[in-house]
Amino acid sequence: MKEIRMVDLKGQYDKIKIEIDSAIQNVIDTSSFIKGNHVKEFQKELENFLPVKHVVACGNGTDALQIALMSLNLKPGDEVITSGFTFIATAEVIALLGLKPVLVDVDPNTFNLDVTKVEKAITEKTKAIIPVHLFGQCADMNTLSIIAKKHNLYLIEDAAQALGTNYYINNSITKKAGTIGDIGCTSFFPSKNLGCFGDGGAIFTNNDDLFQKISAIANHGMKKKYYHELIGVNSRLDNIQAAILRVKLKHLNEYNLARQKAADFYDKAFINNPKLQIPVRAKYSTHIFHQYTLLTKDVDREKIQDYLKSKNIPSMVYYPVPIHKQEAFKNYIFSHNDFPVTEDLCKRVISLPMHTELTEEQLNYIVDNVNEATQI
Ligand SMILES: *Cc1c(COP(=O)(O)O)cnc(C)c1O
Repeated sequence: MKEIRMVDLKGQYDKIKIEIDSAIQNVIDTSSFIKGNHVKEFQKELENFLPVKHVVACGNGTDALQIALMSLNLKPGDEVITSGFTFIATAEVIALLGLKPVLVDVDPNTFNLDVTKVEKAITEKTKAIIPVHLFGQCADMNTLSIIAKKHNLYLIEDAAQALGTNYYINNSITKKAGTIGDIGCTSFFPSKNLGCFGDGGAIFTNNDDLFQKISAIANHGMKKKYYHELIGVNSRLDNIQAAILRVKLKHLNEYNLARQKAADFYDKAFINNPKLQIPVRAKYSTHIFHQYTLLTKDVDREKIQDYLKSKNIPSMVYYPVPIHKQEAFKNYIFSHNDFPVTEDLCKRVISLPMHTELTEEQLNYIVDNVNEATQI
């Protein structure tokens, strides 16, 4: 059996090697490394895929979040609400810009922002909410949109783990993650559902004014060459990455389906295991399983991981430490009693190998061993 990995980028590459290699060679042959034609074409293709009016490609997903916040004219000390259970980048950019991160606990089923607790966190200084579509499933955007509208707040979606996820606005309207709020942000980090061969990210918006500002900020605050209207940053997707992403975007739906198929296989194998809770799927969103994350019950998670490791099965904990307990945030004031769900999840979650190349043989081997690991 082929070695089991958390993510199998090599296996995925091998299937599209000819197309990818020629796309890379094309960029080398034209020596157009920065601001090349593939970047423009990729932006257009992603606009059509989502669909959304504007896509601005940038250097990575963290920059995407930072640039999105920079486009909103916020003042130091303004408050931005986000999830307490996320990758550090979401909270980090808020702090980096001198804004105040206000963390809210998550829903124990979906692991996304607990929308019943968001309104209590709003003050006069609150300017924006950043929901994170964690592990590939959307947060409750309908409720968040209502709250944002009522309090006149911007809604920025962190869709780094959810590119291609569908959100059901109602029976007749479906939108893609990242196109529902004012601004959406994503990452093309290699292991993301749409990954490039290095760093990459993008910002989406349907708002023409925000688009103008976002594209300027991502390019040194410049609209006309060498005339700088705003303080910006240098954050670009390079042409080689864009060429790779153009090839892979054509496969994104198929990649997400492959992940869903593997998740269905896992679900079936674990649904009757009293020690494990399978991922809860929300009614309002599809799930593209950036991660397949189980919740362990009354078992020693570390023992499970050790057992799996002895069988050459990798597993990971996303995330072991909540944001409010991170050393980097030690000088920020969070009320520590406010995150019971996040703290509990950090102790109990475990993520299994999840990628587009898992074979039935590998899946059978993994589920048998996971079920065995919970018996000991
Ligand atoms: C990966 C990720 C980011 C950051 O993306 P980078 O491209 O690594 O900077 C931000 N938020 C979430 C939820 C992520 O998973």
